[in-house]
Amino acid sequence: MTMKNLIHRHVVIIGSGPAGLTAAIYTARADLKPLVIEGPQPGGQLTITTDVENYPGFSKGIQGPALMEEFREQARRFGTEFLQAPVTEADLSKRPFTLHTDDHEIKADTLIIASGASAKWLGIPGEAPIPQGYGGNGVSACATCDGFFFKGKPIVVIGGGDTAMEEATYLTRYGSRVTVIHRRDSLRASKIMQDKAFKNPKIDFIWNAAVEEILGEPDKGVTGVRIKDLTTGKVSVFPSEGVFVAIGHKPNTDLFRGQLEMDDIGYIKTAGTSMATNIPGVFACGDAQDSVYRQAVTAAGTGCMAAIDAERFLDSLPVQMPTGEEVTIEGERVTQDHENIILPDGEVISNKAEDTAHGG
Ligand code: NAP
Repeated sequence: MTMKNLIHRHVVIIGSGPAGLTAAIYTARADLKPLVIEGPQPGGQLTITTDVENYPGFSKGIQGPALMEEFREQARRFGTEFLQAPVTEADLSKRPFTLHTDDHEIKADTLIIASGASAKWLGIPGEAPIPQGYGGNGVSACATCDGFFFKGKPIVVIGGGDTAMEEATYLTRYGSRVTVIHRRDSLRASKIMQDKAFKNPKIDFIWNAAVEEILGEPDKGVTGVRIKDLTTGKVSVFPSEGVFVAIGHKPNTDLFRGQLEMDDIGYIKTAGTSMATNIPGVFACGDAQDSVYRQAVTAAGTGCMAAIDAERFLDSLPVQMPTGEEVTIEGERVTQDHENIILPDGEVISNKAEDTAHGG
């Protein structure tokens, strides 16, 4: 067995999107010398977009990759260290927490999880990346990244939510026709996005249909999709040269399953008033814990909150847990009603000023 490099830090941040890098900027400026562990997509989802027009402070807009380069440089300037290696294992059962990569064993006094979310896939034949399927050769989950390759070609978009409507609308810039295939007879997307898609003369809809296979030829790429009409059961082939899967996103939190409290989809539960998880000293921010807003600016905001929570925790100041209790790094718990403090050995003392004034 080869020895792993051992690293120990006050603050370890998993993820380098807007949430992780904002947490890094704050903890670095607090002189906590954070380590950011970057996963398979350094910079996060914004690095696969083009124009970002709604990030405050950039009146003329900015390119996603350029924005993330600025975040990174700002974090680096204050002393953030970076390590690019997928985390393969996490043990949150005791502090310091332990993370493993192929070459490192990393100890963390506090852990900030900013691992983001990734596009969901259907899991059908033909969808996998080349050479197993046509992923990267006609199949994509990112219109802004790949739309350009389908100039003048027929395109299919799968899904019925806001993402699907947004992708379909965007793809009409390039495709000769865009056909949305949805498994039901009505859309889940917001009214405004639906209306925009319905009004677009280049978008058609196929309702009540499941895509069962993406068809193609290795040298040509995608040639069509095999679809099943869910009302009649009839199977047919619909020709297309591009397939965009737009059925939502999934938080990248599998590593912490069984250790951190999550909802059914895998979004990590946080306290609400803080970014604390159910484990004292572990904080989560950005798309790993937010299924509602999912914006770069909200991710950055929660990254800032997680950083301040981690600083407070390391300073022994209590941080609110999802249970309503507050917990310090020494393991002292302040009860939800703020009446009592439970010491690590179980002794209960009053939290009232008059009772503690004499050292009680
Ligand atoms: P979503 O709302 O969960 O929609 C996913 C869509 O994919 C649904 O129509 C669903 O069908 C379909 N789907 C899921 N699994 C499928 C499967 N295995 N086979 C076939 N179809 C499947 O996800 P989303 O569109 O990514 O949106 C997520 C959140 O982000 C929403 O809150 C949305 O409003 C927000 N968002 C906002 C914007 C914007 O405002 N610009 C853009 C993108 C996303 P069913 O309808 O039958 O369940």
